[in-house]
Amino acid sequence: MTSPEPVVGWRIWRLTDGLLGSVVVDHLWEPGENLARCLSSGRAPCPEAPGPACQCGFWAVWSPRHSVARACPAIEPPWQVLGLIAGWGTVALHGGEGFRAERAAVRCLFSDRPWPWSPRLLTRVTAMWHRAAGRAAGFEPPPAADLLDAPRQSVLRTVAAHYAVPLLTLRHAVDHGVLGELGVPEHRIAEAARLSGTTWNGDEAGEAR
Ligand SMILES: [Zn+2]
Repeated sequence: MTSPEPVVGWRIWRLTDGLLGSVVVDHLWEPGENLARCLSSGRAPCPEAPGPACQCGFWAVWSPRHSVARACPAIEPPWQVLGLIAGWGTVALHGGEGFRAERAAVRCLFSDRPWPWSPRLLTRVTAMWHRAAGRAAGFEPPPAADLLDAPRQSVLRTVAAHYAVPLLTLRHAVDHGVLGELGVPEHRIAEAARLSGTTWNGDEAGEAR
């Protein structure tokens, strides 16, 4: 179908040299509008993406939870990032899963990392901080997860500036109505709230805050 109105979906990128790369295929996103082409191997590429009976086009899913499930813990680093895209032009809808779009742009990136990563390293660093805390009275160890995520956060700020999109926490995006403004439906906002460890009671609750 052709969609004059952009559709909005969630996806995961791999951070590659300060750019957003596909996790699945060898492709780097551009700032602003991206135009899809078929990267199919082993057969003639579709004349236009998204082709029918193909997987080409810019993919995104409706569910933030399903998007997070697509993160690959084993490949960090290089780091990954969760974000929202808008897709338009020819859009192939995949039922309850998501869509493939001819044209797409990054709308925002999230600093959250709601997928499992480096648990062994996390345990080691936590133990290290606790030993240090034991030696120095009154010394409070910083949260190990934040400490370990600092290099990724630094890269994320550079990436968000390059793509000229906001870098937000899911919680901020939920609490300040950013997801609704970007066109995310209410039940998906509630899902994002759960991912961020908070709750969301709809627009009325948001206005009351
Ligand atoms: Zn194709």
